[in-house]
Amino acid sequence: MPVTLPFEMTLFNSPFWDNFALLVGQILLILIIVWIVFVIAMVALIVLSIKRKHLYFPMLLRPVLAFTEGAVATGCQVLGVDATQLMEFLIKIDNDVNTTAFAAVPVENRAVFFPQCLRSSNCPARLTPDGLKCVSCGRCGLGSVIPPLEEAGYKTFLIPGSTFIKRMVKKYRPQAMIGVGCILEVKEGLEMGKRISMITLGVVTKTDGCVETTMDWDELLEVASIGLPEPIVRREPEAKSDQ
Ligand code: SF4
Repeated sequence: MPVTLPFEMTLFNSPFWDNFALLVGQILLILIIVWIVFVIAMVALIVLSIKRKHLYFPMLLRPVLAFTEGAVATGCQVLGVDATQLMEFLIKIDNDVNTTAFAAVPVENRAVFFPQCLRSSNCPARLTPDGLKCVSCGRCGLGSVIPPLEEAGYKTFLIPGSTFIKRMVKKYRPQAMIGVGCILEVKEGLEMGKRISMITLGVVTKTDGCVETTMDWDELLEVASIGLPEPIVRREPEAKSDQ
């Protein structure tokens, strides 16, 4: 005698569907638990790295941070790491991860992008299609690093805005670049580098505020000298009273 079901059998009330939904639920639960474990591990590693001033497992941190950054930032904040410290840390990781590839790029294929805020407010540099042209007037530190960088083989750009970077990259096609700027600019520059598949290192200015910012020029030259046989050194231009 045939069995009569009290309801019509469809996909959504079949045993197959029940098993499938259970399986999906279990997989989701496992993924959520794995994600939480990753976030806790990332927060612990970052806090430890910042407190001890040492990068632990940068190669692991960067890819995992890409999909846990928001939660990790919240976790770090709870443990007393503020947004600036976290951003500095992320920049350090990116720099660390990119250093070997950067060192392998011939200096002629590298570029440095400086923000115009590093200039003196009395800067006589003129705007050209390739950015501002520093004349090494001695009123700011750029005049002491741009000539030795260019002599070493770097292309240097003093730019009035980040849109210049894309334009210059398209025009000169460098394989690697150093982006100088405040924390936010450098972080954005590193992200842009990833988007356009450019090996990028970031150097953060000592002060921000958009006018007459300062930076550690020796730190910049140290980064620019990565992979070169000789370190690039500053050359102080003679101060000029007027242009
Ligand atoms: S050295 Fe002089 S010309 Fe060059 S960026 Fe500084 S202020 Fe401008």
